[in-house]
Amino acid sequence: MKRTVSVHDTADVIVVGGGPAGTAAAISAARSGKRTILLEHSAQLGGMGTLGNVSVFMGIGNVTGIYREIISEFLPAALPDSHHESIWPQYSPFELRHYLNQKLEKEGVYVYYHTSFVSAMLEGKRVSGVFANTREGLKAFAGAVVIDCTGDARVAVDAGVPTHAGREEDGLTQPMTLMFMMQDTGKPVAQSLPEDGYRYESVEELPQGRHLYWGGMGDGTLLVNMSRVKGNGAKIEDINYAEKEGLRQVLSIANYLQRTNHPNHILSHVPGQIGVRETNQIEGRYTLTEEDLTSGRRFEDVVAQTNYEIDIHNPTGQANTDERKLDGYDIPYRCLLPAEIEGLIVAGRSISASHVAMSSMRVQATCYALGQAAGIAAALAIESGSALADVSIPLLHERLAEQGVVFQKPVKSGEGR
Ligand SMILES: Cc1cc2nc3c(=O)[nH]c(=O)nc-3n(C[C@H](O)[C@H](O)[C@H](O)COP(=O)(O)OP(=O)(O)OC[C@H]3O[C@@H](n4cnc5c(N)ncnc54)[C@H](O)[C@@H]3O)c2cc1C
Repeated sequence: MKRTVSVHDTADVIVVGGGPAGTAAAISAARSGKRTILLEHSAQLGGMGTLGNVSVFMGIGNVTGIYREIISEFLPAALPDSHHESIWPQYSPFELRHYLNQKLEKEGVYVYYHTSFVSAMLEGKRVSGVFANTREGLKAFAGAVVIDCTGDARVAVDAGVPTHAGREEDGLTQPMTLMFMMQDTGKPVAQSLPEDGYRYESVEELPQGRHLYWGGMGDGTLLVNMSRVKGNGAKIEDINYAEKEGLRQVLSIANYLQRTNHPNHILSHVPGQIGVRETNQIEGRYTLTEEDLTSGRRFEDVVAQTNYEIDIHNPTGQANTDERKLDGYDIPYRCLLPAEIEGLIVAGRSISASHVAMSSMRVQATCYALGQAAGIAAALAIESGSALADVSIPLLHERLAEQGVVFQKPVKSGEGR
């Protein structure tokens, strides 16, 4: 295909994807004085946390930086005194969506909704912008640094960054889940099951072999994470199958819950797309490993810290989940950097990490932290005219601190390299 595409907008920093990583990256880049635009495929910000109806923040052993600010503004009752506590608040995805719209506007980030990344604009080995499908067709967006927060490393893949997916032995990724809500009506409700639905009779027969739901909103809302569909959500055939199978499971699980312990609950919300846990990981300048997690490794170029457990929903689709507690570890800046391509940072769940390591770092609060660091790093590279890999780590830490990030343990020079 050969065609001429007009440049619709030019910015210092282009963030692609408006999930936890993308929203934080855009905020921190804009706060660093850089003109920042965010291109989001859907009509909303928040990524899986709104679009996928995930709507619980898992505890990671800290509440700091932009994530802390979001909690303090959006869920003030959940804000802990210390930066180093775990919180596990449930929230309204509809209200988070609205909050993030307002937040990005206040921060001076221009958000392009309904704008899907199509292809990277490359000058040799440097990304200098992106082509995206907008409501007005194909447009170009030029920028000094692109931050890939698509969750699937879509920009990186297109720019030729090597990636891997899933388990080392067979490439199987964690299964997908269509999360849904039920609402207590205070009286028994009519039950229905589609003709092709599953009539589950016991917990053992359920897709995850367990009950997994939250009722923490205090208003009769039940948030249900109980479906399970095998496949890689970045593959065309897998996602096509998962969207249909996920909904079939949701209607069947709702019917099971009504027949068992929730006779008064109606199905009240099914999001527009299935939740995707794991797809592509870039091969970056450093790859986070299971050993880094279990040994509690610290890094000189730390940009995020977490103690969230290893949490692997069985990639074969079988009903068990591998859950292992961790004491806490660092994620280094190098995990966000492709080895060869310049002008591109990857933040969020698709950073350079093994299958086991990503199962822990993938939760929302960590993705907000990674995004915040990526936005600052982009700004620093622009200011110093340096390569992203040559950004000064002390300066990066200084700017993170200025933006409210408090690391649990002082970073000692030379440690963990
Ligand atoms: C079923 C499920 C349950 C989970 N449970 C929890 C939980 O309880 N608590 C928790 O904290 N975490 C949970 N997680 C993990 C967490 O939600 C995700 O790992 C996290 O949201 C990843 O953040 P991200 O910013 O990397 O990507 P995402 O949240 O995936 O956001 C990516 C964004 O990029 C956009 N995008 C994608 N492609 C393009 C494109 N081509 N062009 C433009 N935009 C694009 C998407 O529309 C989306 O908005 C769960 C995940 C799933 C799937």
